[in-house]
Amino acid sequence: MRITRRTLLLGAGAGVASVLLASCTPEPTPTPTPTRTREPEPPPGVPAAAGSIRSTWTTDPYALGAASFTPVGVLAGTRLALGAPVDARLFFAGEATDEDAPGTLRGAISSGTRAAEELLIPATSGERVAVVGAGLAGATAAAVLAEGGMEVTVFEARDRVGGRMHSRVDDSWPLPVQLGAWLFGVDDAEVLDLMSNGDVGVVELTGQLWHGPEGDLDPIDPQPFDAAMTAAQAAPEDSSVTDALTAAGIDPSDPATAALLAILAARTGAGADELSSWFAPPLPTGDPKAATGDVAPFIEQALDGVKVGLNSPVARLAYDDSGVSVRLGTGEALSFDRVIVTVPLGVLQDRSIEFDPPLPFSNRGAISALGMGAIETVWLRWDEPFWENDEAIWHSVGADVAIATWINLRPATGENVLVGIVGGAAAAEFAKLDEDEAIEAALASLALYV
Ligand SMILES: Cc1cc2nc3c(=O)[nH]c(=O)nc-3n(C[C@H](O)[C@H](O)[C@H](O)COP(=O)(O)OP(=O)(O)OC[C@H]3O[C@@H](n4cnc5c(N)ncnc54)[C@H](O)[C@@H]3O)c2cc1C
Repeated sequence: MRITRRTLLLGAGAGVASVLLASCTPEPTPTPTPTRTREPEPPPGVPAAAGSIRSTWTTDPYALGAASFTPVGVLAGTRLALGAPVDARLFFAGEATDEDAPGTLRGAISSGTRAAEELLIPATSGERVAVVGAGLAGATAAAVLAEGGMEVTVFEARDRVGGRMHSRVDDSWPLPVQLGAWLFGVDDAEVLDLMSNGDVGVVELTGQLWHGPEGDLDPIDPQPFDAAMTAAQAAPEDSSVTDALTAAGIDPSDPATAALLAILAARTGAGADELSSWFAPPLPTGDPKAATGDVAPFIEQALDGVKVGLNSPVARLAYDDSGVSVRLGTGEALSFDRVIVTVPLGVLQDRSIEFDPPLPFSNRGAISALGMGAIETVWLRWDEPFWENDEAIWHSVGADVAIATWINLRPATGENVLVGIVGGAAAAEFAKLDEDEAIEAALASLALYV
């Protein structure tokens, strides 16, 4: 990653407390190249891809999932309990703590601002504050705290900032490969504004194709689906999206409905049988926008002037009336007045950070009640396109495929790149495949479009 001139890096391996390096470029952690025993077999009509990269958020120890969701029977207010400060020493941010837009970049930003503002109330100028996690929530919180006169240190477990926003910049690809969040809907004007300050290019993805084994189909009307959710939201008790559809006389396994559920799963990471109908986000409307540039500078600009320790996983937070002791995975411990924790819900559920004393029941209850959904993405590129249509978003309807949603980047960028997005149980299955199996499954899903 690049670090701007004023960003300060603490080298954890070399002793965080003593080493303060300005404007340095950390060595990237080597990623093991998977040993290939055979090349992935493309199905007839789909040429072998010239390049492929896929995400692994489901197994990533610093994410353990893609986005939080509200399971059936859980109130959205549970997120307030997740984000509730403890003893005015520990504060919580991250998309999962946002009641209005959980699972999104918007939610991450507003949670970071909220937690930092909460912390500034009891704090006095010049206090030492640690932020755990350098994703969008952590970077936003750090910027607000620095502006508020705090001495801020950010601890990030990875060798890069950005968390679940991650552009892989690789010379063999014509544009950065976006492994995390990169799509923006009608509600994302504020995020897009911030991105444009960070010089991240954005294109519009125009046109949708609905396609089944027999050929192109009319667009699927979301109105009956939306009406079923509206009716469920007026019911005295919460029900799953599946039950809400069934109650409205809609068969969830009908191909058209299943296609809409695949879109919902790719957006929330959750299956219709586990997702609350009271708090299910609406199906996306309109043409989305997509980031085409490296998103790292967008995060780096928020961290400008803040001390950031990369490769610094926090293992334990011990707190009392006088402050918080932060112990890193390396064994080093540092003292702070207050801490904002922004790690993903999946990491909190895994208990990979020890809290001493344990968090109050209400925080712990919220951690176990909320759900962490699975979303995976696979990027494929070809020297020549094998498809002919010019629609940017493809939905597979009534076909037994591993990946039902595809983004065609050719119309917007001129590059022969297709991006598969899969969510919910299908993503959890996809995550279990080895590299070759995953590419084979992706290519097989594209045979429909030949
Ligand atoms: C595949 C995918 C697609 C998505 N698509 C969209 C989209 O199109 N639009 C949208 O709005 N949202 C999307 N999202 C969701 C969006 O990415 C997240 O809501 C947002 O990035 C979360 O930001 P955050 O700061 O809360 O968490 P994160 O970005 O996860 O930041 C938390 C940070 O904590 C670090 N960390 C973890 N454990 C430790 C530890 N022990 N010590 C120190 N640091 C630690 C992590 O490495 C990470 O950097 C998508 C997510 C995924 C995975």
